[in-house]
Amino acid sequence: MRVYVATAWGLKKEAAAWAARLEAEGVEITHRWWRACVGCGLELTPGGQCPVTCGRLDVNEDAAARMDLRGVREADVLWLLVPGQLGAGCFWEAGYAQGLKKEIVCSGNLGRTIFETQTCRFDDHEAAFRYLVGLAHGIAVIAPGGALR
Ligand SMILES: [Zn+2]
Repeated sequence: MRVYVATAWGLKKEAAAWAARLEAEGVEITHRWWRACVGCGLELTPGGQCPVTCGRLDVNEDAAARMDLRGVREADVLWLLVPGQLGAGCFWEAGYAQGLKKEIVCSGNLGRTIFETQTCRFDDHEAAFRYLVGLAHGIAVIAPGGALR
């Protein structure tokens, strides 16, 4: 199972930590945006280098957005760690995922938008994590209509 972890930029450490836990359970993370090259949007190597040595040091928002959206397209499930504030981009990504008919799991600061009702919702990230692991192992299934708490 492939997952794209979305949240506000300011919560990137949290996103990375949850993604690492998912990976430990055999889940594939489609794009680690929190460790992307600012110049081209590609994920840095484990050594922290741009994989294509793009040489750009200025922030390339266009490339970053394209790489993020590719990560959403390649995922089976988008997990939105709903931020308490800010986070416009992650809501954009969730809408994109919904349009692509991806499964969406929301957890955290629920209530930011009415569109969360169209997703699988959990009050806390740990419960959402356990659910995602169950999905990955074929134990849990997405509830019809999507909403589940
Ligand atoms: Zn680069």
